[in-house]
Amino acid sequence: MQKAVAGPEIERLIQLLARLPGLGPRSARRAALHLIKKRDQLMAPLASALQTAIEKIEICRTCGNIDTQNPCTVCIDPRRDPSVIVVVADVADLWALERAHAINARYHVLGGTLSPLDGVGPQDLTIDVLVGRAHAPEVTEVILALNATVDGQTTAHYITDLVQDAGVKVTRLAHGVPVGGELDYLDEGTLSAAIKQRTAF
Ligand code: ZN
Repeated sequence: MQKAVAGPEIERLIQLLARLPGLGPRSARRAALHLIKKRDQLMAPLASALQTAIEKIEICRTCGNIDTQNPCTVCIDPRRDPSVIVVVADVADLWALERAHAINARYHVLGGTLSPLDGVGPQDLTIDVLVGRAHAPEVTEVILALNATVDGQTTAHYITDLVQDAGVKVTRLAHGVPVGGELDYLDEGTLSAAIKQRTAF
């Protein structure tokens, strides 16, 4: 049996850190040690930020973004163009497009993509809410900023059919998004170019 090198509290911290994406058991151990060494400068502020996040974070009832206010900062920002809705699969994609300063519009987070193999159907995503939003009089364009994967493109076709009655223009990201590519992993220049050169769907 392996001997424990630290008390259960520290082992628990390491186990929790190891569940974060990109961290394995070794790097979790290193991260835990770093936090412990920087107890005042890093660990205490991190603990307090996590506590605040637990108390305050909500999912925006309009667009599905994550924020500490509801509707979210993006939805209530009057400087954004209310005529364009950018549809993304995940909050990570919204954040990636915002990092790239790709477009000054509103968003809609689907919560995933249609995937018959994984049992993800339309009822599991916020597609009905999106269709409702596309019918709002101020909306003239829906940009499908979905991954260039089979599931992403299946979802794009499905949405295109549904929003047809709304009389809005439906566009998708231009080339530059590699086939099979995931938006969150693209560099900011590529993402920005893809949205500027979007094409009719
Ligand atoms: Zn929102």
